[in-house]
Amino acid sequence: MEVILEFIKAIATIFLLLLIGDFFSTFFYHVPEHVFGKFHTIVHHGKNRSFLHYAVLTRNPLVLLDGILGAVPYFIFTPWLWQLSAVGTVMGLLLGEFHVVWRHVSILKWQTPQPVRVFCDFLFITTPERHWLHHQNAFAAYGDIFSFFDYPAQKWLTSLRMVRRFFNSKYKQLHQVKTVQ
Ligand SMILES: [Zn+2]
Ligand SMILES: [Zn+2]
Repeated sequence: MEVILEFIKAIATIFLLLLIGDFFSTFFYHVPEHVFGKFHTIVHHGKNRSFLHYAVLTRNPLVLLDGILGAVPYFIFTPWLWQLSAVGTVMGLLLGEFHVVWRHVSILKWQTPQPVRVFCDFLFITTPERHWLHHQNAFAAYGDIFSFFDYPAQKWLTSLRMVRRFFNSKYKQLHQVKTVQ
């Protein structure tokens, strides 16, 4: 009974870690970075990036930094998750790391086998094919791990772009007033 309980706790921890990590990474780093920053776009969406660049296996400090900033949300809650299940926390981090590498294999002409694809679609897990759509079009396919984050992320993206437009026009108005004076 004890073992079954530990198993359930470990599974719940893995799920929570990836869910919370992807949520914070998407809404507090990835989407805002696409609106206000240039960093992620240059590093992650730039042309001529090799698989190693995408997969954060390179020693290029900028790529590493983008990877680390995106990965921070996965670590923030580990002290609490650790209390729920240490095994689950470690497994969750390893699975998260595995998924980073896996979702970037499209560049190696990888094709996800049909059963895996069906399994992922069923659980709303982002496949390499789906993540590749985001690399080709920065307005599509958000949710690094879970595809159901795409819809709210799109709404968040639109809202933040409106905020940016608002401040840009205010800035321009101010600037015009100054130059007229
Ligand atoms: Zn990517
Ligand atoms: Zn992106």
